[in-house]
Amino acid sequence: MSLKRGRKFLNTPGPTNVPERVLQAMHRQVMDLSDPEFLEVSKSCFLDMRKVIQTKGEIFLYASNGHGAWEAALSNVFEPGDKVLVPESGNFSNSWSTMARAMHLEVKTIPGDWRRALRPEAVEARLKEDTKGEIKGILLVHTDTATGITCDVPAVRAAIDAAGHPALLLVDTVAALGTCEYRMDDWGIDVTVSASQKGMMMPPGLGIVAASQKALDVTLKTKMPRHYWDWKTRMEAAHYRKFCGTAPQLMVFGMRESLNMLFEEGLETVFERHRVLAGATHAAVEVWGQAGALYLNASEPRERSVGVTTIRTGDGIDANDIRVVCRDEMMAGLGGGLGDFDGKAFRIAHMGDTNAPMLYGALGAVESTLGYLNIPYASGGVTAAVDHITQAKKTGAGPFTY
Ligand SMILES: *Cc1c(COP(=O)(O)O)cnc(C)c1O
Repeated sequence: MSLKRGRKFLNTPGPTNVPERVLQAMHRQVMDLSDPEFLEVSKSCFLDMRKVIQTKGEIFLYASNGHGAWEAALSNVFEPGDKVLVPESGNFSNSWSTMARAMHLEVKTIPGDWRRALRPEAVEARLKEDTKGEIKGILLVHTDTATGITCDVPAVRAAIDAAGHPALLLVDTVAALGTCEYRMDDWGIDVTVSASQKGMMMPPGLGIVAASQKALDVTLKTKMPRHYWDWKTRMEAAHYRKFCGTAPQLMVFGMRESLNMLFEEGLETVFERHRVLAGATHAAVEVWGQAGALYLNASEPRERSVGVTTIRTGDGIDANDIRVVCRDEMMAGLGGGLGDFDGKAFRIAHMGDTNAPMLYGALGAVESTLGYLNIPYASGGVTAAVDHITQAKKTGAGPFTY
C-alpha cells in the first residue's frame, strides 16, 4: 500500500520551507552586476538585516552556508595560536570547535550536558582562571539544533562581565534567528553568525555575519590568512566588493522578500507563532511518551528551543527507522539524530514558514509511523497538539513557560 502522492512535508531544522513569495521573487532573470535595481535591493538587505539581528554593527553576506559564516567569523577575529573557549552545547558546538582547530586555534572546551543548556556560571569560573587574558573569544551556540536546546545568551554575557574578561563573544544563531528574540547590541555580542535556510525562510546559500565595532577593530590586527572572508575589503565603498566578486543575485532578491514577510508579520508575532507551535509539538511528544519509548531531550522545559524539538528514543529503538519511514512512506521529512544522538533521536522542526496544519501533518505522520513500526506510544499526540493550539488561540501564547 503506497501513499506517495501530494506535497512533500519538510520538517527538518534546515533547510526549512521556502515561502511561495520568496520562490517567486527569486524566479527571474539575472542581470548586469551594477544594475541599479539590484544595487538598491542589495543595499536594503544589508540595512534591514540589522533590524533582524538588532544591531548597528556591520553586516556581511556570503555566498555560503552556515559553515562558511562560521569560517568567516573565525578567520576575521582570530589568528593561528589564539585560544578560544567553547562551552559544549551539543553537536554544533563540537563542529564549530573542529573548524577552529583546523584553523590552528587552541580550543578549550567546557564539557556540557546535551539535555540541559550550558551553564553561564561555568563560563564565569573558567574565565576567572584565565588571569592572563589568554582566551581571545568565546564561541557560543544560541540554539543547538542537535539537542533542541536554547541557551541564555544575556546570562553568558553577564558571566563574562562578572569575570571582567575582555574576550570577544561570538554567537552562532543559525537555528534561532527569526524564531526567537535576538538582540546583538543589547546583549553585548561581538560577532553574530547565521544563515539563510532556517528561520530566515530562504533556500540554503547565504551566510550572514554581523560584527560589532570591537570586532571590526580586532580584525585590522589579526593575521589569519583570509581573502574571500575578509571584512575589510567587503567594507569598501564599491558594491562589487561586498560579495568579493559576483553577488548571488537571486538569493539577494529572495532575502528581500523574506525580510518583507518577517516585517509584515512583525517579529514579535513571528516569535509568538514559534512558541505556540513548539508548545504543541511538546504536548504531542509528552502524550506519545506515556508508553515509555520516547521522551523530549531537553529536560528543562524553559530551555526548549521554539524552532526544533529533539525526541529521544529508548533502548532498542533506532530513531533512524522512524525518520526513514516518515520520509519515504509518509512524505514527511524530519531531522535525524546528530553526533552522539545518531540513531538515538529524531527531530521535528517547527521553524520558519510554517503553521498549525503543516505541523499537524508532520505530527500525524510521526504518530502513524510509530504505530506502523510497532513502537510503543500512547495515541492522542496529535489531538494534544490541536488542543494546545486551540487554547493558545483563545488565550495567547504567553511567555514560553509551562
Ligand atoms: C544548521 C546549523 C549550522 C550549519 O549550517 P550549514 O548551513 O549546514 O553549514 C551551524 N550551526 C547551527 C546551530 C545550525 O543549526
